[in-house]
Amino acid sequence: MAESFESARALILEKALVLPHESVSIQEVVGRVLAEEVRAPWDMPQWDNSAMDGFAVRAEDCGPSKPLLIEGYIPAGATAEGISVGPGRAVRIMTGAPTPVGCDTIVPVEETEETDGRVVIEGRIKVGDHIRVRGEDVQKGALVIAAGTVLRPVEINMLASFGFHSVTVFRRPQVAILSTGDELVEPGEIPGPGQIINSNAYSLAAAVREVGGEPLLLGIARDNRKSLTEKLLTGLQADVLITTAGVSMGDRDLVCEVLENVGVGRLFWKIDIKPGRPTAFGLKEGKPVFSLPGNPVSSMVTFEELVRPALLKMMGHSQVIKPFIKAILKETVSKKVGRTQFLRVRVVSEGNRLVASSSGDQNTGILSTMLRANGIAVLPADRAQIEAGEEVDIHMSSDIDVI
Ligand code: AMP
Ligand code: MG
Repeated sequence: MAESFESARALILEKALVLPHESVSIQEVVGRVLAEEVRAPWDMPQWDNSAMDGFAVRAEDCGPSKPLLIEGYIPAGATAEGISVGPGRAVRIMTGAPTPVGCDTIVPVEETEETDGRVVIEGRIKVGDHIRVRGEDVQKGALVIAAGTVLRPVEINMLASFGFHSVTVFRRPQVAILSTGDELVEPGEIPGPGQIINSNAYSLAAAVREVGGEPLLLGIARDNRKSLTEKLLTGLQADVLITTAGVSMGDRDLVCEVLENVGVGRLFWKIDIKPGRPTAFGLKEGKPVFSLPGNPVSSMVTFEELVRPALLKMMGHSQVIKPFIKAILKETVSKKVGRTQFLRVRVVSEGNRLVASSSGDQNTGILSTMLRANGIAVLPADRAQIEAGEEVDIHMSSDIDVI
């Protein structure tokens, strides 16, 4: 019995468990998920300060015919200690510097006229202008970043502003990648007759890296029990193991058998999807093991639709399934009822609508149409045909062309 796409993904997500926490330097945390909430250790800003280069004044003293005597200077980095703004006086102040006692307003330098140690405020001013008030941004003790937040540059700025040089985030999974097959040679070797290059390992490693995991290439296992056993046991040291090929019905397809022998409990073997039907999933002591098909297109699509969400969950993400965009299908597509079909499409923006057309030959063996695609349309299992003009759900993999 094959699993439906939805039930396979749900089962994988149920079994993929969030990894433990670790403390990581803020230089390395972009894209990581915060494991513990961060609260403000102090008010931000910590003191009232000037938002402009200009003059600290008392608003009531200002006017076009009222020159103020300039007394004192507070550059950024200085304190306002011992400095105050007396009646008819102005203190020169730079952006970010603490405001002195007595001042209720900052006047930007460009709104002033300065002569002989005096300054005239030309325009109208309002009490409180250009003063950043202590705690106006964040108050001491307030929640700054909630646990579960994906750290972007802006969160990193906030963390750094509050003096955190490291934070607690969820660990990244080490993902072992094993290619299997007697026909495989590595890039750099010249393939002999009947041999093909192990390309899957490299696209999967790149995909793992792209979602934030740490790939570990195990090389190639040959289609025999000894070689597979050895490599699979090494792979099971990692947090996640991904194998490719050797999971179909061929007499050399030993991956499932050997996985069982090394103690991986199988949860399913086939999924009603196209491409990618011979995909298996199991667990060894809670570690997810994905056996993906050997075809490059199938291995990439199954990674994207099934492995990626699991890795994201393990890294603490709450949004693990890519949101769909909706586009109008350009041409009618026939498919097999009972299978979810992943159609390689090119999505373009035409006027105010998105239009998706097949990127070409959808055979599993055709890699170039994957290259031309910028998205994968997920066509529902229960449909035999999707008509031109119907709306389809698409997982985008790169930008949309505007024509
Ligand atoms: P299999 O599932 O072992 O029958 O493999 C299916 C197809 O994928 C065959 O044409 C293999 O040669 C090809 N294939 C298997 N492993 C890889 C790999 N690591 N890189 C590229 N193609 C592969
Ligand atoms: Mg094979």
